Amino acid sequence: MNQKKNTVLIIEDEPPIRKVLNISLESAGYKIVECDNGREGKRLAASVGPDIVLLDLGLPDIDGKQVIASIREWSQVPIIVCSVRNADDEIIKALAAGADDYVIKPFNPDVLLARIHANLRKAATQEAGEPEISNGAIRMDLVRHEVFLNGVKTVFTPKEYELLRYFLVHRGKMLTHKQILKDVWGHAHTEDMQYLRVYVRQLREKIEADPSGPCYIITEPGIGYRMESLPEPEQPVLIRQKESVGAGA
Ligand code: CA
Repeated sequence: MNQKKNTVLIIEDEPPIRKVLNISLESAGYKIVECDNGREGKRLAASVGPDIVLLDLGLPDIDGKQVIASIREWSQVPIIVCSVRNADDEIIKALAAGADDYVIKPFNPDVLLARIHANLRKAATQEAGEPEISNGAIRMDLVRHEVFLNGVKTVFTPKEYELLRYFLVHRGKMLTHKQILKDVWGHAHTEDMQYLRVYVRQLREKIEADPSGPCYIITEPGIGYRMESLPEPEQPVLIRQKESVGAGA
């Protein structure tokens, strides 16, 4: 399914451990990017933009703590250290370098999955102030990357999801075309207005009752867009079952 999955970057030099991680993470619905050394890990952290990093400390080229320090220069992506090193001193140093969590090998895959979920939840909460955002009939689960429209789970492509999340996080604010393009597509795309138009149209077709008369994503002519803050829709009136049972019998 073409839904935005959480991407896990695994930096680990032991193939059997990567294999175990692959099996348990894939079955839990994560997308995996992996490598076996620190330099490649730093490069992938920048080029892939993972949602979370699992990092071994004993790597063949550089120490994992250097990888943490290097990623922390520019990113707050959650980093979970998975290491055989169990000395307090080593754990403290890794946390001081900027790791979010520390799991000692050998680890229970279920415990690791729970830690991953907890760290993703914390990261999503830091970004939006809450792990879920609601606006009108839209509810977005920032941890699971799921969107519900009137309570019905609806599939969005990864880029549609990112754009919708951006609008939801900044709801109520006027956003310029350039600002949206820079934040959602990246610095190289601030002039690519047609991307934005295409994706706004796709989003409107999914979330608006009338895509040509939108009430969520409003066009600000010559400037950009604004997502209106809308109240939760009223609950549908329940059919009074007692009456129909009596009448039909
Ligand atoms: Ca190792």
